[in-house]
Amino acid sequence: MQRRYCPCGTSILVDFRPAGPTWLAVFFKPRLLFRSRVSRCPRCGAPLDIDSLS
Ligand SMILES: [Zn+2]
Repeated sequence: MQRRYCPCGTSILVDFRPAGPTWLAVFFKPRLLFRSRVSRCPRCGAPLDIDSLS
């Protein structure tokens, strides 16, 4: 699990899962008690792409 940041500054947790010969990045919104999977930034709505997160 890694912490990355959207260009808008929102922190996103990224988990990498094996998907055949490559890895699939799965994004989660950090929460206190649980993680909810997201495909877009919860603040700015940008589609999350591992290459666009810093
Ligand atoms: Zn954002």
